[in-house]
Amino acid sequence: MAIYDLTKTPADSYDSHTHLNDDKLFHDVPAYIGRANEFRVMEMNIVGYDALANERALTIAQAHDNIYAVLGFQPEDTMAFDSAAAEKLEMQLQQEKVVGVGETGLDYYWETVAHDVQKEAFKKHLALAKKYDLPVIIHNRDAFSDVYDMLKASGVHKGVMHSFSGTPEQALAFVALGMHISFSGVVTFKKADDVRQAAQAVPLERLLVETDAPYLTPTPFRGKDNEPAFVKYVVDSLAETLNLSPKEMSDITRTNAHRLFLNHD
Ligand SMILES: [Zn+2]
Repeated sequence: MAIYDLTKTPADSYDSHTHLNDDKLFHDVPAYIGRANEFRVMEMNIVGYDALANERALTIAQAHDNIYAVLGFQPEDTMAFDSAAAEKLEMQLQQEKVVGVGETGLDYYWETVAHDVQKEAFKKHLALAKKYDLPVIIHNRDAFSDVYDMLKASGVHKGVMHSFSGTPEQALAFVALGMHISFSGVVTFKKADDVRQAAQAVPLERLLVETDAPYLTPTPFRGKDNEPAFVKYVVDSLAETLNLSPKEMSDITRTNAHRLFLNHD
């Protein structure tokens, strides 16, 4: 792997959404954290998506400083989100180092889980976010209007549209509901002009960066598994898009993450 030029980004970054709890990365958590720290990616959220991933996210977060857990059932795994699973999730959300509910939301692309089942689970996650005053981390694929309507009706006013890939208008609609917009390695892709346009529309104080590792590996490592260290390339690409320095971009997105997840600047 090429060594990242740290003189380009002399500031710490916060990966707001990563899956060291995924089978592809879980076998070597300390190495991935070590490499992230070498790249000055000092903080990250391990995001759950099913029962095992939630368990692992908690274990990783509770064993490491500056690493936090977000817990929930992603739309594709909501068949397993029965009342026992919901009760267990509610107990886990009250544990130390938990900073959000998710990922949750709606996915109408794969069509493996009925929309009604997904909606029921999303509604429950939104209710938990409200009850425990936690930000909600939303996965939205081809489901903009249902996600928007349900979020608006829920009264939840803080959270993240994760790995955003919609239009500038959609981004601003979510910003108006109080949401942050998180950009992934997709912003580094040559063909992603629409995503870069959306980034330009978002107020700076609502921007976040993420890897969604092991998925969505940024240029120049496409084809390999993604890892938290690579959020630096997302920062660089977003900085270029917004005519800011990589340091400014790191500082802005890190400060935003601190405010949203940790309640401090
Ligand atoms: Zn994810």
